[in-house]
Amino acid sequence: MIKKIAILTSGGDAPGMNSAIFGVYTACVQHKIKLYGVIGGYDGLIDNKFTEITFDTLNGRINSGGSIIKSSRSPRFLKDTYIKKAIKNIKDNKIDALVVIGGDGSIRGAMELRDAGISVITLPGTIDNDLHFSHTIGYDTATNNIVKAVDNICDSLSSFDYGCVVKIMGRSCPDLLLSSAQALHTDLLVTSKDFDLNSLVKKIKATHDKNHLPTVVLVLEDVVDCTELANILQEKCKFQFRPHILGYIQRGGSPTAFDRKYGYSAGIMAVDCILTKETGFAIGMQGECLVKKPFAETVK
Ligand code: ADP
Repeated sequence: MIKKIAILTSGGDAPGMNSAIFGVYTACVQHKIKLYGVIGGYDGLIDNKFTEITFDTLNGRINSGGSIIKSSRSPRFLKDTYIKKAIKNIKDNKIDALVVIGGDGSIRGAMELRDAGISVITLPGTIDNDLHFSHTIGYDTATNNIVKAVDNICDSLSSFDYGCVVKIMGRSCPDLLLSSAQALHTDLLVTSKDFDLNSLVKKIKATHDKNHLPTVVLVLEDVVDCTELANILQEKCKFQFRPHILGYIQRGGSPTAFDRKYGYSAGIMAVDCILTKETGFAIGMQGECLVKKPFAETVK
């Protein structure tokens, strides 16, 4: 009999994480299960920070971005001694199953817990889309945030006939950059360190000469320095370039309808799986459907 479920959010926060928590909470209420939030991801597991989630915890906050139970990157959780401490806390608190919302790294953490006999379900909460699902929770909102921000930048830049170099999140995964590029109608992209500068300059000149669209170069984070690239392009193309680092603007703000519905229904399905003892799975969207996959099939 399932009496207590715990939930945590880990890694980079993603809009829609709160909707997922709400989905899990709703199903728990329906099945008379107590739901506990682990405050601050895997760090909270190690430090025994469990708090009961009630209607008051969620009231007025389910449609906001970020995570109401806080997230963390936990270097301690990479060490066996701390994983053991986390497992002891899960057992001492008599938690029957754990829901982990996060990205690639968080799923690897969940695999450690599963291997130690903990019942775990994961939901893919990351703007990076770096998992083997067609979408992750937060990816749609982040794409829209980027498109809106770059559109705003372009209003000014095109009035002055400047170009811009915009740094896009995603770590080594270019999905967010590519989906934003499609919506912004730009093919001026830098997704690897060994990109071809000459061909980029050629493309920029051709685009700029036609003057159809603003000159927007999207650069994947950690690949090249945006300011340096803007300076080089300015010199080679003979018009002004401005670097823009959008930062947390990309992953903040209220989630789109898509991410809210996705998070909520994935949360409901997580509890269904726990009740039918189908744990050890990641639940996420493949095309139009929610599916469950073994953890190892979801990490890239
Ligand atoms: P994301 O889940 O968004 O990919 P990270 O890669 O930062 O974010 O991972 C979040 C946390 O997951 C890490 O801080 C760490 O605590 C845990 N984690 C990552 N990789 C592993 C691993 N191989 N084993 C155990 N825990 C891991």
